[in-house]
Formats: sequence, C-alpha cells, structure tokens
Amino acid sequence: KKRFDVIIIGGGPIGLANAIEAKKAGLSYVVLEKGCLVNSLYNYPVNMTFFSTSEKLEIGNIPFVTTSPKPKRAEALEYYRRIYTTFDLNVHLFEEVLSADKGNIGFFDVKTTKASYEAAHVIVATGFYDVPTLLNIPGENLPKVRHYYNDPHFYAGQHVVVIGASNSSIDAALETYRKGAQVTLVIRAAEISPRVKYWVRPDIENRIAGGEINVFYNSQLTAITETEVEIKTPMDKIRIQNDFVLALTGYRPNFALLKKLGITIPNESPCIPNHDPNTMETNIKNMYLAGVVCGGFNTHLWFIENSRIHAKIIIAAITEKLGA
Ligand code: FAD
Repeated sequence: KKRFDVIIIGGGPIGLANAIEAKKAGLSYVVLEKGCLVNSLYNYPVNMTFFSTSEKLEIGNIPFVTTSPKPKRAEALEYYRRIYTTFDLNVHLFEEVLSADKGNIGFFDVKTTKASYEAAHVIVATGFYDVPTLLNIPGENLPKVRHYYNDPHFYAGQHVVVIGASNSSIDAALETYRKGAQVTLVIRAAEISPRVKYWVRPDIENRIAGGEINVFYNSQLTAITETEVEIKTPMDKIRIQNDFVLALTGYRPNFALLKKLGITIPNESPCIPNHDPNTMETNIKNMYLAGVVCGGFNTHLWFIENSRIHAKIIIAAITEKLGA
C-alpha cells in the first residue's frame, strides 16, 4: 500500500491550493478527485460568469489573466488546468474516496473506488456542489426536473419553471428566456436575492417589469406532473402548463461522507462541521477541512477568495507537527 504524508480529498480550486502548499513544503501527497479536474466548475452552466474578479480566484501566486474583470467558466477551467500542469501536481482523477479510517498505527487507511492508501494526514476539500437541496414534493423525480442547469439552447420553445431567487436561478431564467423559452420564476421570498450579481439585477428586473419573464413571489411549487406544475401563491393554488422545471434551490455539503469520516456535525443549522479555525483540524486528529465544505449549510460563508488561505494554514499546522 502506498503511504503519503498528506491525502487531499477533492480536486477543486482549494484541493489544488493545498496540493501546491504540500509540494512546496516537501511533503509527499496525492489529490484524489472523484470526477474530472475541478469537477464542480466543470459542471457549472456553460456560459457562467464568476462573481469574483480573476485575481481573487488565483492560487499558488500564479496570475489569472483575463481581458474582462470577471472570468467565465471556460477561462477558469483553463486557469486551473494550467495550475495543475505548471506545478506538476499529483492528482488522481475519477477516483472517489469511500472511507478514511484511522488504523491502530496512527495512519489513515484511505479506500477509494480504485485503490487503498495510507496517509499520515487527510485534508477534506470536498466542496458543496454534489448534493442538491431537494423540494420534497410529488413529481420531483420526473426526468424533466433538473437540479443542475447547463445550456439554454435545450429549452428553446419550452415552458420552463425556474425555482429560486439567487444567481443560479436568475442566470438560468434570463438565458433560457433569450433562447425562446417561456419562463416562469417561482420565488419563495418577496423579492429576488440581494446576492444577485449587481450587473445582472437590472436585466432581470426589467424583464419582469416588461412581462417577458413571469414571476410568482411568496410562492412555492407543490406538485409536478408530466405536463403541469402546481404553484401555491399567496392568493391561490394554481396550475400552469410546463415542460421543464429547473429547481436551482441550492446545494449542501455531503454530510453523509463527513459523518462517515468521523467528523462531528452539530444538529443546529448551519451545521458547521467540527473544526478548529486556527488550524482547520477537525475532531479527528490529523484530519483537516478546507474550502467551502467548512460552511455547512451556509454555502455563502466561504468561497475561493476567502478559503484559499486554508491551504497555507493547514500545511503550516502539519509541518509544525512533523517538525516537533
Ligand atoms: P469544489 O470546487 O466544489 O471542489 C470539491 C471537489 O471535491 C469536487 O471537484 C468534487 O468532485 C470532489 N469530491 C467530492 N467528494 C469527493 C470524494 N468522496 N472523493 C473524491 N473527490 C470528491 N466562488 C467564488 O469564489 N467566486 C465565484 O464567482 C463563485 N461562483 C460560483 C458559482 C456557482 C454556480 C457555484 C455553484 C459556486 C460558485 N462559487 C464561487 C463557489 C465555488 O464553487 C467555490 O468557491 C469553489 O468551487 C470552492 O472550491 P472547493 O475546492 O472548496 O470546492
């Protein structure tokens, strides 16, 4: 069995930032990623524009050069791919971590879909994009209901309901409307989210004011059938014609995996997985948390800009222990 100083679970931007720091510190390491390189970013909508400016997405002190201030998904994929090749990082792709048990000899026994390894330290950087928040209503399991939105062309000429008031929903509503979908937004709150990108807000407000995109505020979907959706509005329950539902109601960390790893999670929301913010070490000795997974249900707490620092904190904590 191969033994490493550090095993990093997740090949997202923060997993890669940890790998860079581990390599700089001369530690043996491997990143285990269940999908492709920066898998979450790969699965973002194809036309997605980041809310961050490019320099805030930089890792390893490598400039992220873009001609517009806010990079697009394709540019970010290119940037992180060049990070991977420039630092010649040891990343195993399409290899999912199933468990990491602490053995008697002080090493973690890390089992994946392809192999087993031993690691003195484990860094969990698994993000929050794998588990969508479900509606839990009848019809949600129909194939026309999607929790991930990709490309607007698919929805041309279709009656589309978009659920949610945040960036993902508003982007999807505008893009599909522009490709000829008849779009209805269903929003639980009384208004669109204040987090909507400032340059997108006037566009959606004007489309709503002009009646080009239909909207129900203070409303929720209560059922979905092959041809209709049922919406509970403040006035009444109504049914409208429908071909596709984009339920972009947010995502959450894979709590089941965190629990399986032995990390304790408090019952009260936002259910922030147990860790020491000074070292990022969890309740399991030598197991660390990094990146957006640290926020629990509060997926707006951490993003790339403020969590890339976790890499330096964790690797410093590990080298200090090893040196001691
Ligand atoms: P992720 O990028 O999610 O990486 C986690 C990785 O772990 C994934 O690749 C996943 O496949 C892998 N993984 C999970 N479980 C396992 C397992 N068991 N075994 C192996 N691998 C596993 N942040 C910003 O800073 N600026 C933005 O503009 C921005 N825009 C966003 C737009 C959208 C639509 C979304 C959803 C998020 C956005 N974010 C933005 C947040 C952004 O996703 C995160 O900041 C960033 O992806 C976090 O990096 P991470 O490495 O912590 O997690």
